[in-house]
Amino acid sequence: MHHRLLKNSTSFALPLILLVAASLVLPRISALPPSWQMNLVSAPYFIFVTLLLLSFHFNRGRIFCVSLLLGVAYWSCRTYLLQGLVDFRAGMIYQGLSVLLPVNITLFCFLRERGVLTNAGRLRLAFLAGQAALVAWFVRYNYVEVQQFIGRELVTSAVLDRFLLPQVAIFLFIAGGLLIAGKLLVNPSPLLSGMFGALLAVGASCNWLTTEYLVPLFMGTAGLLLIISVVQDSHNMAYRDDLTGLQSRRALNEQLMGLGRQYAIAMLDVDHFKKFNDTYGHDVGDQVLRMVASRMQGVKGGGRAFRYGGEEFTILFPHKGVADATPHLEEVRRSIADYQMKIRSTERPSDGQEGKKQRGAGNGDQTVSVTISIGVADCCDGSATPEEVIKAADQALYRAKHKGRNQVCA
Ligand code: GH3
Ligand code: MG
Ligand code: MG
Repeated sequence: MHHRLLKNSTSFALPLILLVAASLVLPRISALPPSWQMNLVSAPYFIFVTLLLLSFHFNRGRIFCVSLLLGVAYWSCRTYLLQGLVDFRAGMIYQGLSVLLPVNITLFCFLRERGVLTNAGRLRLAFLAGQAALVAWFVRYNYVEVQQFIGRELVTSAVLDRFLLPQVAIFLFIAGGLLIAGKLLVNPSPLLSGMFGALLAVGASCNWLTTEYLVPLFMGTAGLLLIISVVQDSHNMAYRDDLTGLQSRRALNEQLMGLGRQYAIAMLDVDHFKKFNDTYGHDVGDQVLRMVASRMQGVKGGGRAFRYGGEEFTILFPHKGVADATPHLEEVRRSIADYQMKIRSTERPSDGQEGKKQRGAGNGDQTVSVTISIGVADCCDGSATPEEVIKAADQALYRAKHKGRNQVCA
């Protein structure tokens, strides 16, 4: 568990590195030629437009919304806040941004992905437009009360007084950052990592609003981080299997090209899985495939697990022969056969009372188990192509099925 948290914490690396780099570049910008400085100021617009197009293309509604939000925020900064918080309008817009940005960025990390132009996607866009309209309303009709409400002091603290951000906004940024960081540690994804970086960058931009070139640099960095996250995410989509989280067949094919002279390939197939599906339903079948995959992922001996397709899997052992790979495959086979998976009984009546009675009688939940058959072959010192090795492993798998299943054959 600790090991996993440590591994997941690498998701913070890229955002932090880029943000530190941006902070290091910042003091050197004034030494650049004026035309470069001009480019820096318009660069975020290009970045946000690129991000909009990318997220639209890949149908990533949450990133699409956040990129719109960042674009509008940057435009508002350039249009109304260049001179700082000089009047009521500037103050109100600033407060709107400093409250709405952390809330929305955090919110979109926790909402489910629902695409861009779907009903849910449109609703979310309308939700953002509503917020913009609300801020405009407050500005137009001089809602001083709102400004006082957001600007009021929650705690007396000399440290917090040093920030331009209102205390409410500071707390929202911190709370959002902690929530996203927590989710990232448990369940890392490129999207969350990008959003985390964007939140930090936006927080810095809001607080050091009038530091020259800080806003374009940090808002640009936020956009860049999100672009990277969309690209990484769509890359993952091609190389990871959605259902099981294993590497996909495409990833296998690429890794087969880069193998040395010695490797073993195992093909694995769930036994009587058609019957299993017929008995327990496709959903329970999917659950079993996830269980099988997670057992396979624990394979020792440097084995790498892939979903070959359907209920067929592959484990690749670089630098190993059949004799070295077999004990590790045996272990996987046994751990799957021994695993008792709890499922909810499909026959449970939807009526609450009736259901309770049945569970009380002890037949509400049920355990199931499956076995797998494995065929393994190696490349005989580079004389066989990967395709031939896979074919040989497939034939070995066929033998394992014929000899009664739940076994490893070479
Ligand atoms: P055998 O022991 O000979 O392998 O018998 P089997 O029933 O497993 O035979 P086969 O491998 O031909 O059956 C494959 C079945 O796997 C067909 C399909 O119902 C099921 N299956 C394939 N992909 C999926 C999936 O993604 N989810 C679920 N639930 N079932 C799948
Ligand atoms: Mg099969
Ligand atoms: Mg099968």
